[in-house]
Amino acid sequence: MDTARDVHGGDTASEPSTRMTEGLPGLAFDLVLLDRDGVLNRDLARGVRHQSDWEWLPEAREAVRMLSESGTRMMVVTNQANIGRGLLARAELNAIHRRMIDGLRPVRFSLDDVFACPHTPDDGCLCRKPRPGMILAALKRAQVRPDRTLLIGDQESDIAAAQAAGCWAIHVRSGKGDPPEDARAGHLGSACDLLSVVRSLHGSDRPGTARPNQG
Ligand SMILES: [Mg+2]
Ligand SMILES: [Zn+2]
Repeated sequence: MDTARDVHGGDTASEPSTRMTEGLPGLAFDLVLLDRDGVLNRDLARGVRHQSDWEWLPEAREAVRMLSESGTRMMVVTNQANIGRGLLARAELNAIHRRMIDGLRPVRFSLDDVFACPHTPDDGCLCRKPRPGMILAALKRAQVRPDRTLLIGDQESDIAAAQAAGCWAIHVRSGKGDPPEDARAGHLGSACDLLSVVRSLHGSDRPGTARPNQG
């Protein structure tokens, strides 16, 4: 895509979010990697430690449905240091992810995989974002090229991990809030939430883009 690097974050927070993802290569992504907390579900300061902590963000499931219908493969890549800290049992994390998957069934969800880093920052692992280990593992499992892959996350560490792996990245403000100052560097765009990103990818919200026969 010739416009592929012309992604920018916009100059002000009041700029319509749909403008901020102009220049993305449309539906050309083969794989979308989703950060979990702050993208799919409400982020909690203490982390999601129990199934009962799970709360879908508004319209996140609609966004997943739209991506599924477009044939885009999706995987989740999530840092879960509460496991390494002894605050979250692996069995509970698995239960939380079952709940996530169950919640998507009604919207004909298709999710290829869920990657979770259980380590704390002190562990120095290669998988905890901003390191790219989980993303590289996802690319390998999906057999997809990084430049055909988009990561959507709510923290600088998500964006940095994607960039380290050579993937596209979009920052959403539905979790930790505004993107970092250097949001216009590299492969980075910004939007208010997952549904905004998906609508922009589909072209339906992109000013001046006419795409007949697409919702
Ligand atoms: Mg997050
Ligand atoms: Zn790790």
